[in-house]
Amino acid sequence: MSQFWKPGTEKPRILDDEEGGVLFLSSSFSSSASGYGFANIEKQRQRLPVYKYRTAILYLVETHATTIIVGETGSGKTTQIPQYLKEAGWADGGRVIACTQPRRLAVQAVASRVAEEMSVKLGEEVGYTIRFEDITDADATRIKFLTDGVLLREMMDDPLLTKYSVIMVDEAHERSISTDILLGLLKKIQRRRPELRLIISSATIEARSMSDFFRSSKKHQGLESEDLGPSMEPAILSVEGRGFNVQIHYVEEPVQDYVQASVSTVLLINDQEPAGDILVFLTGQDDIDAVVKMLTEETQNSRKNSSGLIVLPLYSGLSRSEQDLIFSPTPRGKRKVVISTNIAETSLTLEGIVYVVDSGFSKQRFYNPISDIENLVVAPISKASARQRAGRAGRIRPGKCYRLYTEEYFMNEMSAEGIPEIQRSNLVDCVIQLKALGIDNILGFDWPASPSPEAMIRALEVLYSLGVLDNDAKLTSPVGFQVAEIPLEPMISKMILASSELGCSEEAITIAAVLSIQSIWFSGRGVQKQLDEAKLRFAAAEGDHVTFLNIYKGFLHSGKSSQWCHKNFINYHAMKKVMEIREQLRRITLRLGIVLKSSEGDMQVVRKAVTAGFFANACRLEPFSHNGMYKTIRGSQEVYIHPSSVLFRVNPKWVVYHSVVSTDRQYMRNVITIDPSWLTEAAPHFYQQQRQNPM
Ligand code: ADP
Ligand code: MG
Repeated sequence: MSQFWKPGTEKPRILDDEEGGVLFLSSSFSSSASGYGFANIEKQRQRLPVYKYRTAILYLVETHATTIIVGETGSGKTTQIPQYLKEAGWADGGRVIACTQPRRLAVQAVASRVAEEMSVKLGEEVGYTIRFEDITDADATRIKFLTDGVLLREMMDDPLLTKYSVIMVDEAHERSISTDILLGLLKKIQRRRPELRLIISSATIEARSMSDFFRSSKKHQGLESEDLGPSMEPAILSVEGRGFNVQIHYVEEPVQDYVQASVSTVLLINDQEPAGDILVFLTGQDDIDAVVKMLTEETQNSRKNSSGLIVLPLYSGLSRSEQDLIFSPTPRGKRKVVISTNIAETSLTLEGIVYVVDSGFSKQRFYNPISDIENLVVAPISKASARQRAGRAGRIRPGKCYRLYTEEYFMNEMSAEGIPEIQRSNLVDCVIQLKALGIDNILGFDWPASPSPEAMIRALEVLYSLGVLDNDAKLTSPVGFQVAEIPLEPMISKMILASSELGCSEEAITIAAVLSIQSIWFSGRGVQKQLDEAKLRFAAAEGDHVTFLNIYKGFLHSGKSSQWCHKNFINYHAMKKVMEIREQLRRITLRLGIVLKSSEGDMQVVRKAVTAGFFANACRLEPFSHNGMYKTIRGSQEVYIHPSSVLFRVNPKWVVYHSVVSTDRQYMRNVITIDPSWLTEAAPHFYQQQRQNPM
């Protein structure tokens, strides 16, 4: 454990071994190398902390149904354990070792690293699957990295996940909504398939509560299996890290603008501190791009020192070549500055980091079942996250962490731990997935952390109105099953199904593809004016969804030209991704028997299809509102059209939105105009019920 705790602050928690099944292993468990691979890579592998535990891990996995492995970020859990398992024969006989991650980018990065370490081509022996991207070979792939969401989807075709011998649920401390659902389901599967081995791994885990969660499965099992099979008692293994001391610096006064403060802190480090790369934690593409731009300008203006800076962004949605830059070694005499989201907190280890700048914020989902709005909010991180972030500076030698908040704030105001995502999410997606897996009693489901009954009721209500669930809360046929089958948010899937009847499915799958990626616009501050001008070229009076159709048409017309994208401030990579996703949706809809048809320019039916999916997100402009204030029909919440929307400042009377983000206000992203009579048409129950409740 790194020793960056300043005297007087809370001590790091240390796992203790009072309870049965908890195991600590010393370094005496070393083992011989596997005997293949290039010598230098092999040496690197042996230097990782987890290597000393190789035999121990294999022993525990052999003898226990569930093994919980706790180890500091960078100790080699994700890249090494699947390889050890394979070397020990867990992938023999056509079986597959799975390792899940909450983040898509992490899946891609670790898979390519492991393929490189094993000197195999990515997509053969080592592969990965994320939504809309399957780089595996059904016959050849033995180690498969995938998002926990994708593994959940695989259960629809193969409920017992029979092809996997070991499933490693990685980054369990993140407590993503899919991880929690997965843990509950894996526990069920284990009862039916005792030969399946689970590894739950993470950087900091409440190992005890995780082990309690898995231990209780014994009760349900009825009879205790003597000698036969693995012990149902979960084992816990703690990998001793080798972190270096990290000195913590706090700001004396709260900072007003963490973007500006990050930039000046990086420049300060660069001026005053010896060589070593810098990692800056911000929240998302917007603030990251802003800092990258400001620092890049600084280096170009070349104030004496800053010309040696290599400034790189790190967030999901980067292309492969951009990702590669992050991991490539820093050239001599240069200093790398990586500006990252939470992903570098534990999911990815960057070598060479000596300085960390922590903004104290991350982007988090928050759902309020009363207002029924799910928000993406820039919110304060927990102390546990702050410690993880600081720890990133102590990987290769003693480092420094600059916290852009006061010590007083850290000590007295930051919460100790984050809240599991399932307790702050809209559950529509989660409910439909469980229903599709035949889990009917969702409130009675064995959750690692229970979701709120209010959120559950809201989700059931929406799904009922979407026609996905019937009066007995069972999936309807065919709509319910079809919506579950399409790997999109249920509201988007419903829009596609409705479009089939309305005769605009070609348009609907294009819209669905665009809504599935973050943004198709080129981003970055300072280009706002040109960007707005470019948007005007495509802007449709009906709103953003129709604007997307115009852009898609223009892109096709240009022969999918990157120059055309550049000229119009459209992100070429994003458009290529849209094409790929659209093609997959085309195949899925054909499989579901949906006939693809274009409305040939009739945008009314397109808007009706959007309404059929998104009626729950309907809003009305407040009468006499001078500042564009809308209220949601359902929860009577104040919302505004996001400045990125083509309807910003246009403020039509009735709209539906795709999602809400919060900064100073709640902003609707991706907005389209509707006729209010379509709402009762699309969801009579939903809006009838509303009328009975005084709003
Ligand atoms: P953990 O999962 O315990 O956090 P990892 O297995 O991810 O650790 O990382 C082990 C080591 O492998 C680290 O030193 C890390 O820097 C290195 N590594 C991981 N991914 C890559 C990559 N894509 N390129 C280069 N090095 C990598
Ligand atoms: Mg890892």
